[in-house]
Amino acid sequence: MQLTMKLLVLFFGVLMLVTLVLPGRSQGASQDRRRQPGMPQEQTMEPTRGDEMIRPDGLQPVLPDKARCPEIASPFGSETRYDGSRRPSWEFGGYHGGIDISLAEGTPLLALAAGTVATKDEGGQLEGNYLWLRHSPDDTGLPYWVYSKYQHLLSLPELSIGVRVVAGQVVARSGKTGTTGGHFRAYGYPHLHLTTRKSPNGDLIVGARGSTGGANLIDPLVIYHEAGAKPQESAVTIPYATIDGRIWPQGTRVVWPVACQPK
Ligand SMILES: [Zn+2]
Repeated sequence: MQLTMKLLVLFFGVLMLVTLVLPGRSQGASQDRRRQPGMPQEQTMEPTRGDEMIRPDGLQPVLPDKARCPEIASPFGSETRYDGSRRPSWEFGGYHGGIDISLAEGTPLLALAAGTVATKDEGGQLEGNYLWLRHSPDDTGLPYWVYSKYQHLLSLPELSIGVRVVAGQVVARSGKTGTTGGHFRAYGYPHLHLTTRKSPNGDLIVGARGSTGGANLIDPLVIYHEAGAKPQESAVTIPYATIDGRIWPQGTRVVWPVACQPK
């Protein structure tokens, strides 16, 4: 009799565990996932621009004292363009998915790190001629692959797909392709739009707007921040190259995408 009671208690105990605890745990897990949008889900989502969460991250670029660098005109996560106008909400929810640097047409653009040319093409409205570079962890010193995209180029770069580039090498010329006809009317807006993505994978296919290969969008400042000496501070000292190929600080593997002029 006592054995039967024990078995009954054990049976109901197991039943309660299965009906109460396990569903509760899986519910908790799905709530956890909901609290962190963009972590595991983003890998499986259709890689369209509108699905990505972009917010300003509080990083503040500090330009070097000893050189004049072209500054950010519209930072990552900004709701406004360089001229103060509001970005359309259909694109990344109205938040800027990269950084804009206003530049005269034809300004040399530099590889922000060593890498290889992943792809290049003539995009349309809002994109223009573009170039994607692929940077390995060895190229940057970061624990992930970086994909960098230079938009609105004057012309399609001559570099062949797959070719190696070194940090600070001129890889393209800035322009305003893809900027005319819309908000900026016939004149357009000559600038570099730089997009960066990170991924544990080095074999992603990246291309035109929307084809991200599943890599996560990041603020380009994150790269300088995490590769720099003081990642615990929100101020990011910008490492750079001069047009004659010198880099600062010595030993940096990442540089600003436009050359700085020594003062
Ligand atoms: Zn932009």
